[in-house]
Amino acid sequence: STQIQLIRRPVGTPTEEDFATVTVDLPDLGPDEVRVRNKFVSVDPYMRGRMNESKSYIQPFGLNETMTGGAVGRVVESTSDVLPVGTAVLHGLGWRDLAQGPAAQFTALPDTGLSLSVFLGAAGMTGLTAYAGLKRVAGLREGDVVFISGAAGAVGSMAGQLARKLGASRVIGSAGSAEKVSLLKEKYGYDEAFNYRDAPVRRQLRAATPDGIDVYFDNVGGDHLEAALDRLNTGGRAALCGAISQYNSTERSPGPDNMANLVTRSLKLEGFIVAQHQDLQPEFAGKMTGWLADGSVVFDETVVDGIGNAVGAFLDMMNGANTGKMLVRA
Ligand code: NDP
Repeated sequence: STQIQLIRRPVGTPTEEDFATVTVDLPDLGPDEVRVRNKFVSVDPYMRGRMNESKSYIQPFGLNETMTGGAVGRVVESTSDVLPVGTAVLHGLGWRDLAQGPAAQFTALPDTGLSLSVFLGAAGMTGLTAYAGLKRVAGLREGDVVFISGAAGAVGSMAGQLARKLGASRVIGSAGSAEKVSLLKEKYGYDEAFNYRDAPVRRQLRAATPDGIDVYFDNVGGDHLEAALDRLNTGGRAALCGAISQYNSTERSPGPDNMANLVTRSLKLEGFIVAQHQDLQPEFAGKMTGWLADGSVVFDETVVDGIGNAVGAFLDMMNGANTGKMLVRA
C-alpha cells in the first residue's frame, strides 16, 4: 500500500519535505477484517492543527505514522459478514491507496446514485458542519441576514445554500478571487459577495450589509470576525467554525479590537466542533442526499489525481486553489 506519512512537524506553512511517501506490505486479513481500495481521500484545514505537537480537541498526528483522515472506497477483500466485497465504505484511515483493519472501523455507505466523494464533502463532514453550525449553533431563524466567510470552500459553498433552505432572507459571502465571487452569486445562491483581497473587509462588509447581519458563520477569523462584529444586529449570533487565516501563523495575532459590541448589542459567539453534532447526521444526510439528487443544492469538487499528490493538494487547499471540496482521487 502507498501511504503518506508526517516525518517532521512544520513550522509556519508546511512543505513537501515535512512528509514522506512510503510503501507498506499489508498482512493477510484476520477474522472480521476488510481491505478497502480508496477512491477519494480528504484533505482538510483541521489537519494543519494536528501537524503541531500540541494537543487540541484532537490528538496530534504521530511522526512517521500515516496521515489519518476521511476517505471513501470499496471493500476488495473481506472476512466480515457485515461488509462483503463491493461494499462502499467511509473510514478515517486517510492518506493511503489501500486501507485495512477491523470491519468496525468502516461504515457502509448508502447507495444513492451520487459519487462516493459526496460523503466527504456536500453530504459528509463538511456539509454537516455547515448545517449544524447554522441550525443549531447560530440558531438561524426565518428572515435572518447571514454572512459567511470562506464562502466558496467545502463548508462555505454548502453554508450559503443551507442558510437559504433554513429561511435566511439574505445571504452574503466573501472569498479570495473574482472567479469565486462570481460563483457565489451565480451558482451558490448568494445575494451579495466580495473578494476580501480587493479592499479592507470592514469596508466591503459594511457596503454589502446596509441592514446589518443577524448571523455570522466564521470560517476565517481575524479581520473577517472583526468586520462581522461591527455589523451584527442586536441579538446577533456568530457560529465560530474555523479561523483559517491563522492556521499557518507563527506569531499570535491581535484579537478583534471591537469586542465591546458583544455587550452593547447582546451578541452571542459560540465555537463548535462538528463531532459534537454527529447526532444531526442522519437528519442531515437524509435531507442533503435528497437535495443533491433533485439539484436544489449544487456543489463543486476540486480533484487532484494520485495519492502521491495528497500533500500538494493539502497545501493548495490552504492557499485557496480549491472551489468546493478539495479531494485526492486515490
Ligand atoms: P475550504 O474548502 O474552505 O478550503 C480552505 C479555504 O480557505 C481556501 O480555499 C481559501 O479560499 C481559504 N483561505 C485560506 N487562507 C485564507 C485567509 N488568510 N483568509 C481567508 N480565507 C482563506 O475548507 P473547509 O471548507 O474544509 O473548511 C473551512 C473552515 O471550516 C476552516 O476554517 C476549517 O478549519 C473549518 N472547519 C471546522 C469544522 C468544525 O468542526 N468546527 C469542521 C470542518 C471545517 P479563498 O480562495 O477564499 O481564500
